[in-house]
Amino acid sequence: MIELRGKPVADAVSERVSRKVLRLKELGVSPALAIVRVGNRPDDLAYQRGATSRCEKAGIRVLPYEFDGDIVQERFLSEFSSIAGDKSIHGILLLHPLPRQIDIEEVKKIFPPEKDIDCMLDENSGRIFTGGDVMPPCTAQAVMELLEFYGVKLCGKHAVICGRSMVVGKPLSQLMLRENATVTVCHSRSENMSGITRGADIVVTAVGRAKMFGAEYFSPGQTVIDVGINTDDEGSLCGDVDFAAVSGIAEMITPVPGGVGSVTTAVLAENCVIAAERAAGKEK
Ligand code: NAP
Repeated sequence: MIELRGKPVADAVSERVSRKVLRLKELGVSPALAIVRVGNRPDDLAYQRGATSRCEKAGIRVLPYEFDGDIVQERFLSEFSSIAGDKSIHGILLLHPLPRQIDIEEVKKIFPPEKDIDCMLDENSGRIFTGGDVMPPCTAQAVMELLEFYGVKLCGKHAVICGRSMVVGKPLSQLMLRENATVTVCHSRSENMSGITRGADIVVTAVGRAKMFGAEYFSPGQTVIDVGINTDDEGSLCGDVDFAAVSGIAEMITPVPGGVGSVTTAVLAENCVIAAERAAGKEK
């Protein structure tokens, strides 16, 4: 079994990002990312820490905007509007879900599409389906980076994705289709899911259920990409796949932690730099 660790992939993406940042700085552009957080949800705090450290190492300026969890919508929209309008900010990461009193649809109306580096807006996510030029959601792109880095071929292969969210499953299905994989997407109503996954070449799990995928879901020779980030009964981080049970079957498998998650923040940094490059190109 080969463990597909995220660190070397993240390092390779980060190196590419650092080179792009240097080139931008030579042109007088200092790429900047705004991280907007409402409240103190532990997973938001963890993601913010990871993203900040990754971006700063690559030379991207990170500007944190932190608001109380009970901020009223009107005030938040006004604050978000000034962040959105700040020309020195190239990318905005809005940590979500937002508290109930804030209607995300209202925020999306004032979110500049060119600063949408995690593909939150419908007009950007729609382009993934039409094959347009767009920065895909960071996690979906992270899976693609990981597969490419480890030389896992998609063309002609059967990829099964478990989970159909707009941040992972659906966009990933389109990215894999672009690479000529045959893609099946499973979800909570899928029947005989273990039979479907057993027949795949590549299985991606993104359902958010700790260690749900045991040995019965897999067969020898497969590549398994575990996107899930969960906590098990002992309170430890784990994926959707029961790693101990499956590592003896799969040919290649990502660990959790240390797999896809570490690549996600590197892709976020790259998307921010792409946004800065596009903004610089427009200003010329
Ligand atoms: P989500 O929006 O809750 O979507 C979960 C998907 O899984 C849904 O499509 C759901 O089906 C499906 N599902 C749930 N239970 C199922 C079951 N028993 N059998 C089959 N399908 C089932 O979750 P998400 O935001 O995509 O996140 C999924 C996991 O990835 C979470 O653990 C999350 O923490 C992790 N994640 C990791 C990263 C990273 O950087 N590594 C980034 C984002 C998310 P229905 O559509 O039918 O409800």
